[in-house]
Amino acid sequence: MKELTSYNRVAGYLNKVFDLLNAEFFENALSRPTITIQSTPRAYGHFSLREDTWVSKLGGTHEINIGAGTLARPIEDVAATLLHEMVHYYNYENGIQDCSRGNTYHNRRFKAAAEAHGLIVEHSDKYGWSHTSPSDELLDFILENGLTDILISRNEFAGFHITGTGTHSGAEGTTPTRTSSTRKYICPCCGNSVRATKEVHIACLDCSAPMVLAG
Ligand SMILES: [Zn+2]
Repeated sequence: MKELTSYNRVAGYLNKVFDLLNAEFFENALSRPTITIQSTPRAYGHFSLREDTWVSKLGGTHEINIGAGTLARPIEDVAATLLHEMVHYYNYENGIQDCSRGNTYHNRRFKAAAEAHGLIVEHSDKYGWSHTSPSDELLDFILENGLTDILISRNEFAGFHITGTGTHSGAEGTTPTRTSSTRKYICPCCGNSVRATKEVHIACLDCSAPMVLAG
């Protein structure tokens, strides 16, 4: 397989991984949503509850998003994120309300469904049973299907910002620009720190913990 170094190839690949996961863990019960790659600084992914998030003359679809800035994590982690969002999709289709508190707190129904579909689930006080990681079954599945890492992601490092404009195009619209740093965020688990030029919602990828503003 060609290396996953282009956006278009990755977009197609995510659809392929969805189809494989759908067959393996859901008996192909899920119809394809629109799978997007957008920036989601507060999460690795999301599932949209609306059936008409994307619309065409053929009808509407839900959306599953995979965060653009964290695409290049190990494939087992990206697959676990995709599977996590597919569990939300499955629960929605089956009338199972799996979140509360403004759809951020993952309840026991989410935990049960996630564990039944290839994920290991851990609890956090703020987000409930939201932290998921790949089970041995999912790891085996990834090896058996020869799934490889995605080798491209959107540059969203703190301290950089990507300028853009809707009115004209040009190199200056797409070049990451370093700007002055004014705020420091720290991971309460491991102490990793980053700087940002404005208030941001950011998580430590080592710990999956929200980072907190220091000082
Ligand atoms: Zn979730």
